[in-house]
Amino acid sequence: MASGRALVTGGAGFIGSHLVERLLRDGYKVHVIDDLSTGSFDNIAALEGDPAFSYTIDTVLDLGVMERLVDDCDVVFHLAAAVGVEYVIESNLKSMQINIRGTENVLELANRGKKKVIVFSSSEVYGKSTDVPFAEDDDSILGATTVTRWSYAVSKAVDEILALAYWREKNLPVVIVRLFNTCGPRQTGKYGMVVPRFVKQALLGEPLTVYGDGSQSRCFASVYDVVDGILGLHASEAALGGVFNVGNDEEVRIIDLARLVKELAGSPSPIRFIPYEEAYERGFEDMMRRVPDLSRIRAAIGYRPKATLGDIVRSVIEYYKT
Ligand code: UDP
Repeated sequence: MASGRALVTGGAGFIGSHLVERLLRDGYKVHVIDDLSTGSFDNIAALEGDPAFSYTIDTVLDLGVMERLVDDCDVVFHLAAAVGVEYVIESNLKSMQINIRGTENVLELANRGKKKVIVFSSSEVYGKSTDVPFAEDDDSILGATTVTRWSYAVSKAVDEILALAYWREKNLPVVIVRLFNTCGPRQTGKYGMVVPRFVKQALLGEPLTVYGDGSQSRCFASVYDVVDGILGLHASEAALGGVFNVGNDEEVRIIDLARLVKELAGSPSPIRFIPYEEAYERGFEDMMRRVPDLSRIRAAIGYRPKATLGDIVRSVIEYYKT
């Protein structure tokens, strides 16, 4: 089994904490840096006392702290980022700083010792393209800079471009992971994520808030499948310098997701339709469909997501019940 010292930025977040657990199981020594802005200490509390695990509560914007941590590791999983459409709209300046300066810090420091960096990007970079499924070399189609939502996509595109430039010009080993909608235990609905929101609403008997008319669709992947994909890419020499979609390609309309959550939770909650402008900001543009083309990661590492949408929703219901 692989081993080494991994630094996980954003390791107290939803995806980060699942990745940390898996790395520890695989024999890595793991250090987490997280400023707990959207992550939660509860996500890593159970790991305290594991001699292979340590953490720093601080920001990736602090160069002094980051220098020490990057020097002490063999690979950086750079997940620290502003997360969720609502959060990015509400804390826009902070989001841009974390997403752009934070990544630049990581790449610059990693480059000194040529430490490998797994850079986490987002399916947001495809923007409002309607040409599904989205393949990694497809065009990004972004909206106006005055519509705050697009700033997230721009910041992640800048991260990717920086990482690719370090790879091409400095031979820094990087892999870019474009995450599609990912769900599972520990995900919070606080920053907009639809599955934990619907599950909580259903369990509390509150109306399920479907934005728009609910005909927009997404593909939801289990965090466990996503972590498998991330570690598969990390283990693959051929993945170096590459951009990879990671997610699930089973598509569901948001209205049907709401119905499924109600059914699996056995909930009498009504479904309430909320206009986008009320839910987000004036001029908000949602993407109607977002489906990953998984051919590249399938060819590289034989990736095939195992969990169905039903499995995922049930795991989130279990989590919120306990
Ligand atoms: N959504 C919704 N109700 C909510 C939260 C989200 O209908 O309470 C919709 C949202 O407009 C989008 C989809 O669910 O079409 C997925 O939203 P999320 O924020 O989870 O992810 P993203 O928009 O980044 O795909």
